[in-house]
Amino acid sequence: MNRFSILVGDITRSRAQAIANAANTTLLGGSGVDGAIHAAAGPELLAECRTLGGCETGQARLTRGYRLPARYVLHTPGPIWRGGQEGEAALLASCYRSCLTLAESRGIESLDFPSISTGVYGYPLTQAAPVALKAIMDFLRDHALPRQVRLVCHTRETAAVYRQVWNMWYAGTKEERLPEEPETI
Ligand code: ADP
Repeated sequence: MNRFSILVGDITRSRAQAIANAANTTLLGGSGVDGAIHAAAGPELLAECRTLGGCETGQARLTRGYRLPARYVLHTPGPIWRGGQEGEAALLASCYRSCLTLAESRGIESLDFPSISTGVYGYPLTQAAPVALKAIMDFLRDHALPRQVRLVCHTRETAAVYRQVWNMWYAGTKEERLPEEPETI
């Protein structure tokens, strides 16, 4: 599957056509990757977000990227971890699917994701990784766009967890296994 890869770095530097933002339901900015995206995009991003009137958990909204290298931002509020019995997995899968569906409808060719909900929202990484990867791979199997999807992890440790799950479930052959030394941006 050469349409998918896992990178390490700062997603605000991504040169993909669109990046996803692990937002909150107000869409008015927050901490973590959300704060980094707003800081890098500039105040015009917040101004456009204000016009959207928020977004439900698991859904997605599109804005321009302003001063980011990425042309578009897909804002998706991830679920807050409440122990796993409150529909968190379905909502997390929905975040990835909603962004991919919106990207496809806009003809977006390349989309980078952060690790949604695994920071301040407390979703355990080892449980989030299989949910995220299944949502992405199921979508790519059935759709030609986006042509390229990448998961941009902030740390090597995070990337290693996603890579292990990917190698276990999605690398059909040895050649498809993701390298231990991930690409960086
Ligand atoms: P959430 O509220 O959805 O948990 P966070 O932003 O707190 O969102 O964390 C989600 C993930 O994004 C975490 O793994 C965090 O390390 C990562 N992250 C934070 N800043 C960046 C960045 N600039 N680029 C990529 N990932 C980032």
